[in-house]
Amino acid sequence: MAKFKSLIVGAKFEVASRKTACKHDKKHVITKGEFRLSVKNSTQGESYYCISCAK
Ligand SMILES: [Zn+2]
Repeated sequence: MAKFKSLIVGAKFEVASRKTACKHDKKHVITKGEFRLSVKNSTQGESYYCISCAK
C-alpha cells in the first residue's frame, strides 16, 4: 500500500479538454466538457478515469 501510494504524484478532478478513454475500461468514453479524474503517476505519466470508476 505504501509503495503504491508513493507512485501517485497527484490526483485531481478536472474538466476534459478533449475526448479521452477511461484508463480502467477503454469502453468508458469521457467526452469533452465532462469531469474526469486525472492521476499523475511517476512511471506512466498522466491517466484519466471516468467519474464512475473514480468513485
Ligand atoms: Zn471508467
